[in-house]
Amino acid sequence: MNLKCKHPLRICLCLLLALNFSTLAFANQIQQARFNQAGDTSRLVLEFESEPTFTYFTLSGPNRLVLDLSGVGKRYSFDNLQLSSKAVTKVRHSTPKTKQDTRLVIEMSKQLTPTIFTLPASPDASYRLVIELVDPTYIADTTPVNTAGPDRDKDIIIVVDAGHGGVDPGSIGPAGTYEKRITLSIAKMLETKINNEPGMRAIMTRDGDYYISPNARPRIAVQANADLLISIHADAFTTPQPRGGSVWVLSKGRADSELGRLLEQTERSSELLGPAAEVIEDRDTERYFAETILNMSMDLFRASSYELSNKMINEMKGVTKMHKKVPQSASLAVLTAPETPSILVEVGFISNPQEEKNLNWKEHRERLADAMFRSITAFFKKTPPDGTLWAQWKQNAPQQHRVASGESLSLLAQRYGVTVSKLKSENNLSSDMVKIGQLLTIPSS
Ligand SMILES: [Zn+2]
Repeated sequence: MNLKCKHPLRICLCLLLALNFSTLAFANQIQQARFNQAGDTSRLVLEFESEPTFTYFTLSGPNRLVLDLSGVGKRYSFDNLQLSSKAVTKVRHSTPKTKQDTRLVIEMSKQLTPTIFTLPASPDASYRLVIELVDPTYIADTTPVNTAGPDRDKDIIIVVDAGHGGVDPGSIGPAGTYEKRITLSIAKMLETKINNEPGMRAIMTRDGDYYISPNARPRIAVQANADLLISIHADAFTTPQPRGGSVWVLSKGRADSELGRLLEQTERSSELLGPAAEVIEDRDTERYFAETILNMSMDLFRASSYELSNKMINEMKGVTKMHKKVPQSASLAVLTAPETPSILVEVGFISNPQEEKNLNWKEHRERLADAMFRSITAFFKKTPPDGTLWAQWKQNAPQQHRVASGESLSLLAQRYGVTVSKLKSENNLSSDMVKIGQLLTIPSS
């Protein structure tokens, strides 16, 4: 209890309270209130001195959410609270059940679905109560920019997602490194590499230090009709030992491994304003995701994600120790864009002092971004999406053939529909002899 008295008379009152009404004393109070609106979600965050205890109920006609905070006696003025939403119209006080409590009323223009949870204090934030109000009738007003078919974007669109951001620092290393800063730095490096590559374009889910909900991230990929979403994170564990990177794809059901469940859980609880990784069972994700996860096309995208993950693990192995040698799967909200291959890369353990040091080294981050870039280009070189420049180039590019036992130039010329002389000139061959294992360029006929 923190009762500060300046006046002698108030000392007595404080003592009285402390002695007789300690459980009733105004032990807690609202320190700050913030509001933000992202997509379908209106979010009110209240900061407290200590962990708040609350109950709530909703009323209709007019729509209201009534929130009772016990042991919060002091009124907080919401006059300066900016309500940047049409769905939430007012936040005000109402008569509490007892004098030691606070009753808040959130007025809403329509029926919103509430989710209310507390978040523990962290080095740079106090206890928070997060009130999320989701509009079930919300329709995103952005239309896809990159529709499939003949009109699709000729560039391969890659959504680069820097994990966390803003009030959500992600994990914090023993030396105080914020995951959100590491992820943004690597994401920007990757963005530059992608944008320098002809026929490829990067879209960032965030390009600064601000908060985006985990569910809003795959939506950005869907709206951009992206060919890939890559989400960048750094791992953390309760002990300093674990180290190494890992690559994650969406699992169909529950996480395949213990670590997967842990990741789902820690990403979930480590978040400040909505987890970076909400499990699919979540109402919000589920509505968005619907049955897509179970259908055939999803399997296809899961397969692509898995293939890319394998490539990425191979590339990352050259840069950092890998915690897991095969792609891991978990039900992470950020990976739920239907029809967009999505992967999540953990670039190392920020909770490991050596890896934290590495991640703070620009050169190391550059190498990680390089490894990601190389695996992405290798993946799309092999399977460029239909309608892209890369697909065109692949079609026109000369094919390669490695000579197998029993194959001759004339046989290969016949198989590829080219003349023997064209094969010879393309490969600078002076005779008709070819060796087993020799790599030949097959000209377009
Ligand atoms: Zn993270």
